[in-house]
Amino acid sequence: MNDASGPAALQAGPAVRVRAPGKVNLLLSVGPRRPDGYHPLTTVFLAVDLYDDIEVRPNPLLRVTVHGHGADEVPLDGGNLAARAARLLAAHAGFDTSVDIRIRKRIPVAGGMAGGSADAAATLVACNELWSLGLTGPELHDLATRLGSDVAFPLLGGAAVGTGRGELLVPLPGPDGTQFHWVFALSPRGLGTVAVFSEHDRLHIGGEARSEREVLTDLDRLKDALLGCDVHALAAVAERGNDLQRAALSLRPDLRGTLRAGREAGALAALVSGSGPTCAFLAESAEAAAELAEILSASGTCRQALVATGPAAGCTALR
Ligand code: ATP
Repeated sequence: MNDASGPAALQAGPAVRVRAPGKVNLLLSVGPRRPDGYHPLTTVFLAVDLYDDIEVRPNPLLRVTVHGHGADEVPLDGGNLAARAARLLAAHAGFDTSVDIRIRKRIPVAGGMAGGSADAAATLVACNELWSLGLTGPELHDLATRLGSDVAFPLLGGAAVGTGRGELLVPLPGPDGTQFHWVFALSPRGLGTVAVFSEHDRLHIGGEARSEREVLTDLDRLKDALLGCDVHALAAVAERGNDLQRAALSLRPDLRGTLRAGREAGALAALVSGSGPTCAFLAESAEAAAELAEILSASGTCRQALVATGPAAGCTALR
């Protein structure tokens, strides 16, 4: 908690609500660990309509409350990514943080869908409006990259190629309003991203990363699949596109059963989402996704299975 308050003018005004999407990585190519500890990534993010909602309102102190499944695993102090975002934005504007942040979580916590990053991005957008700062998209993007590798993407939404640590984004043209249908199988417990990267390093002692050429070929295939709305071509790349999947499965062998259940139920692709443990399944249609979600929910291999579509919009103010 922060007990410093902002200028009196910032204590007034109505609440602002912003909705932020989760993501799935259609491609996640992980390079060797750099001396600074980070891994160079080439990734394709797809935003999906599994949302967290953030509400900010004037308050003399910085306060965070979290509702929804897994809320008890989310820090309420300065370690919360939304609180860090509010602090950074206030510091950038030259005053102390004074805001009440309410988070309604639907994106699984520690689920490999960048829920914390989505909350941080939404908080930047919401506080920018609450405090009438008038920061531009590029300015918010710059602040977002300082908060974490995955924070900039939810500002944009849609689909984008990410390089560097994942924060250097190039938006990809979408499939012209057409949506891809997904099912996300949520795990009863989360998986730490750092632990998955460490396991990845341990398993790749001999160095088995894909060649640059293979990554570029997969990138081209994905771009074509997205543009042409070719769900089968998308599935072919996504199914084997996640370099972190082996590490996630090594730490959580039970996820093999989840992936198998989805494949047997007719998923076009079955993959671990990001660092896991959420499993993502691509379906042919909305009907196929609904049926798949029902089968997975009853399979006993996950906590719950939710349908979602993508590409979804980036952080959006709710009126
Ligand atoms: P990543 O973006 O690294 O893929 P993830 O999607 O697997 O992460 P998150 O839900 O973002 O997982 O949470 C990772 C950790 O961050 C959680 O275990 C939690 O302790 C911490 N955290 C901080 N702020 C938040 C937040 N607003 N929502 C969720 N987790 C948060």
